[in-house]
Amino acid sequence: MQEIKEPYNSDTALRESEAKFRQLTGLMPMAIFSTDKNGLITFYNEKAVELWGRRPRLNDPTETRYCGSWKLYKTDGTPLPHDLCPMSSAIKGKKSFRNEEIIMEKPDGTRIYARVNIDPVYSADGEVTGAINVFEDVTEAKRINEGVYRLAAIVESSEDAIISKNLDGIITSWNMGAQKMFGYLPEEAIGKHITLLIPPLLRDEETSIIKKIRSGQKVEHFDTIRMTKDGRSLNISLTVSPIRNEEGVIIGASKIARDITERVKLDNQLRLYNEKLKEMNTYKDEFMAMASHELKTPLTVIKANLQLLQIKLKENPHEEFVSKTMKQVNKLSNLISDLLDVSKIQTGNLQLNLTDFDLCALVTETIDNIQQTASSHKITIEGCTKDAQIKADRLRIEQVIVNVLTNAVKYSPQADKVIVKLSKDDKNVTVCVQDFGIGIPIEDVRKIFSRFYRVRGLASTFSGSGIGLYISNEIVKRHGGKMWVESTEDKGSAFYFSLAMTKSSSNHE
Ligand code: ADP
Repeated sequence: MQEIKEPYNSDTALRESEAKFRQLTGLMPMAIFSTDKNGLITFYNEKAVELWGRRPRLNDPTETRYCGSWKLYKTDGTPLPHDLCPMSSAIKGKKSFRNEEIIMEKPDGTRIYARVNIDPVYSADGEVTGAINVFEDVTEAKRINEGVYRLAAIVESSEDAIISKNLDGIITSWNMGAQKMFGYLPEEAIGKHITLLIPPLLRDEETSIIKKIRSGQKVEHFDTIRMTKDGRSLNISLTVSPIRNEEGVIIGASKIARDITERVKLDNQLRLYNEKLKEMNTYKDEFMAMASHELKTPLTVIKANLQLLQIKLKENPHEEFVSKTMKQVNKLSNLISDLLDVSKIQTGNLQLNLTDFDLCALVTETIDNIQQTASSHKITIEGCTKDAQIKADRLRIEQVIVNVLTNAVKYSPQADKVIVKLSKDDKNVTVCVQDFGIGIPIEDVRKIFSRFYRVRGLASTFSGSGIGLYISNEIVKRHGGKMWVESTEDKGSAFYFSLAMTKSSSNHE
């Protein structure tokens, strides 16, 4: 037999075994590296290079020791010096590590969660000569896990009942909200049919819900009734969505139920209050109409008698009392007319008697009338040409002009003029009444056309009822026009209203 030389054979075998080992580690999906007992890196595979983001020099004392990673951290984010890392502890403490987690940072700053498994390597006489470390990147798995935990925590802490069931209607999960809402513990509900919660008369709902879910549809915000363990009925708002498996196949449904019993109670109460309010409003409108009528009739008689008395007492020194009384009676009569108008507007009984007339002529005429009693102010008119023909209720439009003109005089006691401007475009004629008085605070401008609204703090200086602008605005609106105001406090106000002309204008002014 030919003698085989021992040294030659063992060398070859060693080289072959090392080559096989390298080939094997190159194929491994895990990263692997080894160090000697001083932490000098003696070997690593390509996966380790990928996870470290660098290729450390082997057996080099100037390199990082115990691990080829650029930097290391504990899982709580605090830095972990290399000579305190698990690999170092394994060598120094002669112990193995299984599934230990640390954070590795690459030179480009990206970090990964690594799960490491380490075994010390011993010499024949039991001394530690180094260690082998097999590690993997578990960043993605951790992220998914955290997401799942977070979602589970959200579901668990939700006030809403979140329940899942399979397509046969069997309850498969039951959160704390469901427990609180329906009174069943998870072990009492899971495995039972969902009809546990559905009142007998509403069982058909489940069939139609499951039908929708099977076809991939969602059932959204559907108000219904469910039963609690102790037999109470709950008003709930239900949203049911299909649950799909990884292949996209529908395997069940998730239900989110919100207890709306309180809301339904409040809604019902509100509805009752609203009905009551409507009823009271009708009574109030009826009373206003009745009261205004009943006041107007005797007042008309008083007025007629006063007029007769005035004629009889002509040139008598006592006539002065009659005319003073007449003034007050007129005030009262105007207020009652306004109140009657309000009640007509409220009940939709404000009738319009439409005729064709020239707005410009009406404005001029009204100014002349007002000017006779308002000697403190000079009322001038600008832009008034003929041909502002409108079809409207002449008396009602006059009422609007009188209201804004008397307001302009009343609310500008320090001024001595009021300017009325008329302008036209293709379709509309606009009247603007500008005064130089107290103006309106910005926060009141928006509310000025509301019923009975008056700017606060005026009552002691200016008498009024807060009805005139409301009626004026309603009259203009009923004619299809619009009314608005521009005002600056302490500078003055400009009240506008515009109405459609019957003939379109050719020259704009
Ligand atoms: P009244 O003048 O009788 O109170 P109105 O409905 O005509 O009622 O006016 C409502 C409120 O609008 C008034 O109380 C006043 O506060 C404000 N107002 C109306 N016109 C003017 C104006 N030209 N300048 C300043 N404030 C005005």
